[in-house]
Amino acid sequence: MDWKNLPGSGGNVEDRRGRGGLPGGGIAVGGVGGLIIALIAMFFGIDPGAILGGDTGTTQTQSQSQSAQPQADDEAYQFVNSTYRSTNQVWDGIFTQAGRTYNEPRLTLYTQGTQSACGAANSAVGPFYCPADQRIYLDTSFFTQMDRQLGGGGDFAYSYVIAHEVGHHVQNELGIADQVERKQRSARTEAEANSYSVRLELQADCFAGVWGNKVQTQAKLTQQDIREAINTAQAIGDDNLQRQSGSRVVPDSFTHGSAQQRINWFTKGFKSGDANGCDTFAVNYNQL
Ligand SMILES: [Zn+2]
Repeated sequence: MDWKNLPGSGGNVEDRRGRGGLPGGGIAVGGVGGLIIALIAMFFGIDPGAILGGDTGTTQTQSQSQSAQPQADDEAYQFVNSTYRSTNQVWDGIFTQAGRTYNEPRLTLYTQGTQSACGAANSAVGPFYCPADQRIYLDTSFFTQMDRQLGGGGDFAYSYVIAHEVGHHVQNELGIADQVERKQRSARTEAEANSYSVRLELQADCFAGVWGNKVQTQAKLTQQDIREAINTAQAIGDDNLQRQSGSRVVPDSFTHGSAQQRINWFTKGFKSGDANGCDTFAVNYNQL
């Protein structure tokens, strides 16, 4: 992948790296588990800090370190910025074509921990989109975690994760996120509420695929790049995550979809480049 050649300009990446973390980092959940919990929390409108047991109640600025300065010119920043800007260009084009205006999200890059309008963000939580402040929160150490645990990583795999989070912003812009939240509130069972989350997540995967389709020529995507994204989609499927954590596979508890579903919807978006084909809400649930 030639990410330096991605289209797009401007960009709203805010670099909060090296500013120290939030105090009280004794979060009891690790990596992937934390990621799941935080994303569930987002879609149920619950403060993830409360669930994670993190210290979100107070801002203890005295613990913030000034020792390390953000380095906006380093490769990680350039990479994230480049991918993020290209998503803005792609979605701006799609929205314009549909006669709508795309309001760009913002992206916050941080290390250790930072505050979001949705509660505390920290390395254990993993990347997420916060609808309340329309920001994507990303700790670049997540990429290292992907390399080690989540399907092997690779630059296009990282981009898939960023594009997936941008996909949640697109859902917010289109009012889909609100509708889902309403439906979840009136859901009679947890399984039913989860099913809306799965549809939302698979749609974000499909949107990530649409972005990949639109930039494939400029980014000079190769079969290896596509494999990287597929490997990640596979690794973060709920069935694989449940297996990895040593628990039974319980489809009713899925919130993001199975490995196969995630691969399928990413691929659908990638092959067609058509966001209208990403209507995961129009498909029978057992045929997703
Ligand atoms: Zn998601």
